[in-house]
Amino acid sequence: MRLYDTATRQLQELPPPPGPVRMYFCGPTVYQRIHIGNARPFVISLWLKRWLERSGYDVKLVENITDVNDKIYSAAPGASAQLAADASAWYVDDTGGLGLGRPDVEPKATERIPGMVAMIEQLVASGNAYPAGGDVYFRVSSFADYGKLSGRHGDEEATRNPSEEAEEAALKEDPRDFALWKGHKQGEDTSWESPWGRGRPGWHIECSAMAEAHLGPVFEIHGGGLDLVFPHHENEVAQSRALGHEFAQLWMHNGMLRLAGEKMSKSLGNIVSLRDAIERWGRETLLVYFLGGHWRKPIDYSDEVLEQAAAQAEGFRNVFRADGGEGGDWDAFASALDDDFNTPGALAVMHGWRDRDLLRRGLEVFGLESLAEVAAAPAKIEALAQARLAARARQDFATSDRLRDEIAAAGWNVRDVDTEPGFQLVPKR
Ligand SMILES: [Zn+2]
Repeated sequence: MRLYDTATRQLQELPPPPGPVRMYFCGPTVYQRIHIGNARPFVISLWLKRWLERSGYDVKLVENITDVNDKIYSAAPGASAQLAADASAWYVDDTGGLGLGRPDVEPKATERIPGMVAMIEQLVASGNAYPAGGDVYFRVSSFADYGKLSGRHGDEEATRNPSEEAEEAALKEDPRDFALWKGHKQGEDTSWESPWGRGRPGWHIECSAMAEAHLGPVFEIHGGGLDLVFPHHENEVAQSRALGHEFAQLWMHNGMLRLAGEKMSKSLGNIVSLRDAIERWGRETLLVYFLGGHWRKPIDYSDEVLEQAAAQAEGFRNVFRADGGEGGDWDAFASALDDDFNTPGALAVMHGWRDRDLLRRGLEVFGLESLAEVAAAPAKIEALAQARLAARARQDFATSDRLRDEIAAAGWNVRDVDTEPGFQLVPKR
């Protein structure tokens, strides 16, 4: 099994099964419903865990929830803790709707503050960090390998990511330095005790502390979106390796999701929430859509691409409606996944399969075995769909919309198709 590693810029072989393969993926900062782009690392990490386990690996997946930081404070001034608690629950609900199971551990930053304080104390003691005005900063000049992961060194611009964290430039020895601890500011509704006064951790130290708390000082895979390579992951490496911990052996960074060719982000106002996407397209179509993009590459989100994914999902259902067939090569499927987890390759292989047992086994890897369960709709639902079709034919769209809603409320999606009887009923999942 080989995976592309950001740090060495080449494919790296995983140790043979059973490993272990310990994985840490950066989860969301919780202050709103997560968008469909945030769901990509979740989907990739859960699929990879499922595939590695099927391949005989002993896997532990940790995915954090960042429930304290500047974004949350500014989204709910004076009430950030409540927003973070609510948005954490939304995140678990919305990703649960994908039906892929959960990571083994999902630590929340606010539950791990003492571990972060302890790590910062060690960094101060070793001279890798310094307190300043109630904050504590990492001394970038003390870590010679800074910039190796990302190929960026932070001297051409401040190390901070302005969208995630604001920092006090005046307190820093060097503009590249970044905050490990931030003194409490007026209006912030959460703070914790520390040797430097009340305050709260910086974003980067959260992940070093949570990863090491659950996986130890050295682990196999660290993942996250490509936008996290710098400064977030560069800073995690600096914090942990400065303390002599080996930290991650391989770095997986997934490509961004683009809406009409642009990165989806709150500042651009082009957000589609995961919840809305599942509601509109169903989990099966969404998962087939994600399968069609290689995890390292950007992936476009548009009605057209999602229609194609829906048609592909339907193609799989049709195999189970038909009499079935024979043939198909599991090895080709496995080779695609073992070679840098090439899900589009695996998807193409599955499209060639007519052997229903084989196909069910392949779909199962991605949580799509439900495509094999093509239950017939009850007669009452069939009748509603017939009535809807008739309403559409006479252009009575108010009635046809009402019937669609009625069918949906009974747990079915109705789709218009060119073949007889002119519609298809698919159970909502
Ligand atoms: Zn992180």
